[in-house]
Amino acid sequence: MSRRHLHNLCALLGDDLDVERARDEYLASLDADDGLAVLLIPRDEIVAAATARPPVPRCDRCGARLPRKRHRCSRCGLRQT
Ligand SMILES: [Zn+2]
Repeated sequence: MSRRHLHNLCALLGDDLDVERARDEYLASLDADDGLAVLLIPRDEIVAAATARPPVPRCDRCGARLPRKRHRCSRCGLRQT
């Protein structure tokens, strides 16, 4: 099973998690072989992949996005716990 297809489907999936709409949209851009592979991905797996991404870490004080290994906010200087 191709992670690329799963990744691309997740990218098309909106906040409403409408898998069938995302799948239709994605299928339109594929040839038959890729399309078949995409049709075989279970709906549950797509939803799980789309919702499993960890949240982006943010500064507790100012809300700036933090790099994963950064422990001090580059905007306000707050040390993160
Ligand atoms: Zn900050």
